[in-house]
Amino acid sequence: MSSVTRIAIVGAGGRMGRALLESAKAPDFEVAAAIERAGSPWLGEVLGSVRVTGNLEEVASGCDVVIDFSSPESCVRAARIAASSGAAFVSGTTGLDAAAHEVLAQVARETAVLHAANFSVGVNVLARLVELAAQATGEEWDLEVFEAHHRHKVDAPSGTALMLGRSAAAGRGVELDEVADWARHGVTGPREPGAIGFQVVRGGDIVGEHTVFACGEGERIELTHRATDRGIFARGALRAARWMASRRPGSYSMDDVLFRRNP
Ligand code: NAD
Repeated sequence: MSSVTRIAIVGAGGRMGRALLESAKAPDFEVAAAIERAGSPWLGEVLGSVRVTGNLEEVASGCDVVIDFSSPESCVRAARIAASSGAAFVSGTTGLDAAAHEVLAQVARETAVLHAANFSVGVNVLARLVELAAQATGEEWDLEVFEAHHRHKVDAPSGTALMLGRSAAAGRGVELDEVADWARHGVTGPREPGAIGFQVVRGGDIVGEHTVFACGEGERIELTHRATDRGIFARGALRAARWMASRRPGSYSMDDVLFRRNP
């Protein structure tokens, strides 16, 4: 791997795109291209040190990695262009449907692809710890996932809470949908053995907090992640991009980036 990773950023004018441009000022990155959609007010503007353009095809072949934080349609298009240009593809765009995931799986036959719903290093480490705790404690311990976010968030539980719930379920060897207890109200009866419960707070400007409780008889574990800065996603995506620059074609995850030592 060369000491400098050349990246193209798709969705460069967005919140995440601008956070990536800020974090990519580090000397081991070179932003070769900043891409926006047709009609974007950012087209022609200089962001970081590059002029924003609408044409990924023209620039992708000069890049090691295309990083996408845009929209589902744009993600799929950018993945295909990355593959035909020989660049690796890293995307954090959410809201992909099954067809879009299928396209990413196809593209992964031609180039290295990593799609993650959460690029925070801390959250991905937490997911591992949760799986371990769920596995080791067994069904005598009750598992609950708590999350808190700002008042503008429209979905619940958060995608990250679901990810942690799936890690807990994986530790128990079950499917989350079979054991999830999404909400409680009124006379609920005693807790179902083996259930994984979810609790949600919405308020103020909370960037994101997640705690997984494992509650036993006479003791409990609380595994917590607190996000205070959205830059964590940009830094995690750049760490992934650097790791992906020298990977063979295939589908990769943040787990691979953080825990696979010699792939
Ligand atoms: P945003 O709306 O601020 O930015 C999206 C940008 O993409 C906009 O500037 C838009 O013009 C641009 N865009 C749309 N279509 C395009 C196209 N065809 N070509 C080029 N650019 C295009 O949104 P955001 O907050 O930056 O989030 C972007 C995506 O990343 C969302 O799906 C969001 O949910 C996701 N996200 C993921 C993580 C993670 O860790 N995986 C973290 C934060 C946000």
